[in-house]
Amino acid sequence: MKLDNPPPPEYVFKYHKQPKSGNVTNGLGESQVRRATRVFHWPFGKPPHHWQALDLHFNLIGGMGGPYMGYGMIWQRLWNLWQIRRANGPVAPKRREVADPEVMADEIKAYIQKHFTESIVGITRVIPTDIVDGESVDFEYVICVGQPMERDIMLQVPKPAAGWEVMRGYRRVSKQAVKLAAHIRSLGWEAKAHADPKTGSLLHIPPAIRAGLGELGKHGSIITREWGSNVRLAAVTTNLPLAIDVPVDIGVDDLCVTCRRCTLDCPPGAIMDSKQMVRGVEKWYVDFDKCVPYFAENSGCAICIQVCPWAEPGRGPKLSETLLAKRRKAA
Ligand code: SF4
Ligand code: SF4
Repeated sequence: MKLDNPPPPEYVFKYHKQPKSGNVTNGLGESQVRRATRVFHWPFGKPPHHWQALDLHFNLIGGMGGPYMGYGMIWQRLWNLWQIRRANGPVAPKRREVADPEVMADEIKAYIQKHFTESIVGITRVIPTDIVDGESVDFEYVICVGQPMERDIMLQVPKPAAGWEVMRGYRRVSKQAVKLAAHIRSLGWEAKAHADPKTGSLLHIPPAIRAGLGELGKHGSIITREWGSNVRLAAVTTNLPLAIDVPVDIGVDDLCVTCRRCTLDCPPGAIMDSKQMVRGVEKWYVDFDKCVPYFAENSGCAICIQVCPWAEPGRGPKLSETLLAKRRKAA
């Protein structure tokens, strides 16, 4: 078993002058609701942020990594950027009118299931806190999609192979979002895919939770019933009238309050054991200043995701059933 509060690892990359804490930027301890500020994953053309040098370091070593020389994370990302050049595009001049948003929502979900068999999908309304501060998303609805990553490869975390699989996961789910957005535009409605961790104006986890894809886990990632957090998310925003979904309760909190698996296995001890107030919302929170330097030094890290019991293939539905039954019995 690992130490509960291990000493911080020694990093290759060091700041001469430590940047402003990412926890402060993230609004840890703030009781006022506000939009998130971009703090890592700097997109080209946007104002620089405090942790940009570490971000650059991450990109350089990440690109050198990967299971096959010359086919590492940078290649997957470039491939993704190439396909999301079609995130937006011309809208068909003839609009298909929507009499029943529920029927339309079912049609959109059926489209996803037909073209991407291993995927989850849910719909919600865009709210202001879904959008990064200073940016805009001018659509009413967001269709959230998720696809699993290869568990066997992800079990190699934090080796570069797992980082490569993460980027491959983004590329695959991006393809889904881009295709769906193009389909909606062909119906005569505007739609835009949001499908790259560095370029998006839209947060992915909060709308995905409202859309019923899963719940927030102690390790700060969405936990789905199907694959735990071993998923990558993308989204499509649109004004196509759609019925919205409701959040799910699969029992995540019931387990997270007592389980400490991810807190114990996180190498820099970044996962907080109790919920924190963050930008006016009490929720699980991961210490940015501890997690991100480790993440950047290791071509990404998803140890917390892979050690979580929800990530074990086929275990989620049964786990949810047991947790909810236990809660009912205790009530
Ligand atoms: S990604 Fe790695 S460093 Fe960050 S919280 Fe998870 S286990 Fe810890
Ligand atoms: S490892 Fe345990 S505490 Fe951490 S997210 Fe998973 S269930 Fe929750």
